[in-house]
Amino acid sequence: MGEYSRLKCPYCGYEFQALFGNGTSEEPDQRARVRLEMETATDEVSQIYALMKQRGEVSVVAYLQPFVCKDCREFFNYWQVALRSEEGHYAEDKGICPTCGKVLSSRDEIRQDDVDGKAEYGKTKCRCSCPVCHTKMQVTGTGYWK
Ligand SMILES: [Zn+2]
Ligand SMILES: [Zn+2]
Repeated sequence: MGEYSRLKCPYCGYEFQALFGNGTSEEPDQRARVRLEMETATDEVSQIYALMKQRGEVSVVAYLQPFVCKDCREFFNYWQVALRSEEGHYAEDKGICPTCGKVLSSRDEIRQDDVDGKAEYGKTKCRCSCPVCHTKMQVTGTGYWK
């Protein structure tokens, strides 16, 4: 299960649903494991997975992290991977833009803190700017997704 925040730009109407967490099914985890085990996988997380696996069991958890690509001017949700074994853990901290393929770092992440819709003195908090027109986005709803 994860949380979502629905964001809307009051100026141009751009909308985005920021998704956090890993849902209730194991399907994303299985998809992530398949990705890590592909023979052609050479990215950092796949290499670390291979090294950890040589030493024992590795659990793979996929979870959603929203990003903003400033080149394409859009938000997107990306499945990141966290690895855990007896010897330690590793969490991916990048996202790949589905439109231009650019690799984004944690600097471009939208954190849950940035889009917290929980009432704090009756206000919603949104530190994100609209990627299209740079107006401060508003939180129009929050909740849980499965
Ligand atoms: Zn806008
Ligand atoms: Zn992009």
